[in-house]
Amino acid sequence: MQVPASFQYRKATSVAHALALLQEYGPESVVIAGGHSLLPMMKLRLAHPEALIDINDLDEIAGIRVEDGSAGRELVIGAMARHAELLACAEAGAHFPILHDAERVIADPIVRNRGTVGGSLCQADPSEDLSAVFAALRADLVVRGPDGDRTVAARDFFVGPYQTVLAPGELLGEIRVPITADGTPAASAYEKVDRRAGDWAVGAVGAVVEVVGGVLAQVGIGLTALGAERFVAAEAEDFLRGEPPDEQRLAEAGAIAARHCRPTADQRGPVDYKRHLAGELVTRALRRAVGRVG
Ligand SMILES: Cc1cc2nc3c(=O)[nH]c(=O)nc-3n(C[C@H](O)[C@H](O)[C@H](O)COP(=O)(O)OP(=O)(O)OC[C@H]3O[C@@H](n4cnc5c(N)ncnc54)[C@H](O)[C@@H]3O)c2cc1C
Repeated sequence: MQVPASFQYRKATSVAHALALLQEYGPESVVIAGGHSLLPMMKLRLAHPEALIDINDLDEIAGIRVEDGSAGRELVIGAMARHAELLACAEAGAHFPILHDAERVIADPIVRNRGTVGGSLCQADPSEDLSAVFAALRADLVVRGPDGDRTVAARDFFVGPYQTVLAPGELLGEIRVPITADGTPAASAYEKVDRRAGDWAVGAVGAVVEVVGGVLAQVGIGLTALGAERFVAAEAEDFLRGEPPDEQRLAEAGAIAARHCRPTADQRGPVDYKRHLAGELVTRALRRAVGRVG
């Protein structure tokens, strides 16, 4: 099936207008951003919204900037920022190399030119690279709805495959990533294994570390396509926090993450292989992040 079912189409001119249109068309309406995930699903009749609310003109939730937030400086990424824009943003890459590591291996330039950061998160595909990245970064997501704005931790945003905490009538406005108080960015890295360049991950891991006085003051580990609850390797993070980041501990953290994740077998590989990959990639991503400290 290559042709979507019929639907109504409205172009929003502001966030307030988009929210009003979502109210007007009801729970069977959805917003469309880059369309790279939604349109294929509509063509396959896996999604059949009655109305599409186009949010491509909403400058209010576009762009990337650094701004003072309640808890210090934050990198603010508009939901409508395109993958290519994030990859081209030197300031984002300087503070958080994990963002550029990941964006370099997401799809191809055509998808990256159109696909959005917000669309990636809202799709909540277990193979979506940025879900694990923002979970590792402990980002906050600002949700805009008819009753005002609310902030949800990235780690609480995903409730299952293709499911988020977004209620009908709400949309994602921006992603806020805290930059450490003294202005020194946490070190970070992303490691992905795919079958060919630009493909979805067989498995991937993002690591974010803050080293203070020779020990890991904070650790974030996000897993892509490896069956981690809410994309996070929480047990491995707990094991590392407060410890020096030596090679033996990083290897043990990998083993812990591998034990706790629940990958599923598919055309990209069997469970044992993916579990092995989880352990190896956790150790590699942590090693690369620690190597970037300072
Ligand atoms: C060939 C191909 C290869 C790809 N490879 C990869 C890959 O390797 N790694 C990877 O991570 N991704 C990959 N992707 C997905 C790509 O990253 C898409 O950009 C992304 O999944 C969706 O972004 P979008 O802007 O196109 O969203 P859309 O398709 O427009 O929307 C996706 C979903 O999110 C909802 N949505 C969008 N924006 C908002 C918002 N602001 N608020 C609320 N809901 C919203 C929509 O209603 C829809 O349900 C690939 C896509 C393609 C086509």
